[in-house]
Amino acid sequence: MDDIVQGSELYPEPTAKQEPKVEPIKKVGIVGAGQMGRGIAHVVALGGYDVAINDLEKERFDAAVATIEKNLSRQVASGKITEAERDKALGRITFAEKYEGLAEADLVVEAATEDETVKRKIFVALCPFLKPDAVLATNTSSISITRLAATTDRPERFIGMHFMNPVPVMELVEMIRGIATDDVTFSRAKDFVETLHKTTAVSEDFPAFMVNRILLPMINEAVYTLYEGVGSVDAIDTAMRLGAHHPMGPLQLADFIGLDTCLSIMQVLYEGLADSKYRPCPLLVKYVEAGWLGRKSQRGFYDYRGEEPMPTR
Ligand code: NAD
Repeated sequence: MDDIVQGSELYPEPTAKQEPKVEPIKKVGIVGAGQMGRGIAHVVALGGYDVAINDLEKERFDAAVATIEKNLSRQVASGKITEAERDKALGRITFAEKYEGLAEADLVVEAATEDETVKRKIFVALCPFLKPDAVLATNTSSISITRLAATTDRPERFIGMHFMNPVPVMELVEMIRGIATDDVTFSRAKDFVETLHKTTAVSEDFPAFMVNRILLPMINEAVYTLYEGVGSVDAIDTAMRLGAHHPMGPLQLADFIGLDTCLSIMQVLYEGLADSKYRPCPLLVKYVEAGWLGRKSQRGFYDYRGEEPMPTR
């Protein structure tokens, strides 16, 4: 050992441990231009970021931009933003027909249909196109972050970033680390969310996290209350609006979320926690099987095709 020369190529001088650099997010990609994808694009573009959105069809993107434009204009009318801010935000949103279009993103938020198979396929196909240090986030309402992360090439740079609906209005984003999510990814994601003027709440990675673990069993119970004939759609929603001061009745809220999404979340709770108290109500299953998915398909617990929403039961 005596002839070891300190500072030689073989035995370099020890250097101070370097803190990993937390690079800020600059460009954002979104997969899925549905109600959530478009809401996320709205706040991200307004926050000054370039946003590229991928969906299966260009029509979905066009519909998303039309919604974003309408909602931004509403914010202009109420004095929250200026016309110039609206126009700048709209100018930052582009369509990514293929995953190549997300190659420059520092962060990609997956906001596609709440179906694990769909999401897994997206991650497998998407990852080869991403920058090596890009953060991959999912907006899933319920599916295990750890399990989704395991389908990617970057479990340590994968995170749950759960925006609430409607995104431009709701203040909270739940942040969920998978078992492998590293500290730098968590910091980058949290810093990014805070630039959007949202508050974060950290949840452990268990089925449906915090908000939906509490909210969805209540909605499912409201559907059971309807199914068992305890009350009509109108009576149940009135009861909870006026009797519990909820801003929306639970069935109205279910239609707003999307009944397919509600059912998927209940299935994740039921299977993930193996407790019969989470069994999805058969009436919820029936509505989804009928394609009555709520507002997005014009019919759910209410029919939205006329002037006023009409209860369907
Ligand atoms: P949605 O049905 O409105 O939109 C889903 C979009 O994903 C559609 O535009 C569809 O074309 C697209 N899509 C499906 N497969 C795709 C693929 N392979 N590649 C690209 N795009 C694809 O659903 P949503 O309500 O926007 O929900 C999206 C995600 O956000 C889900 O994970 C859901 O659980 C979560 N989420 C929903 C709510 C809510 O209230 N609806 C709230 C928070 C989180």
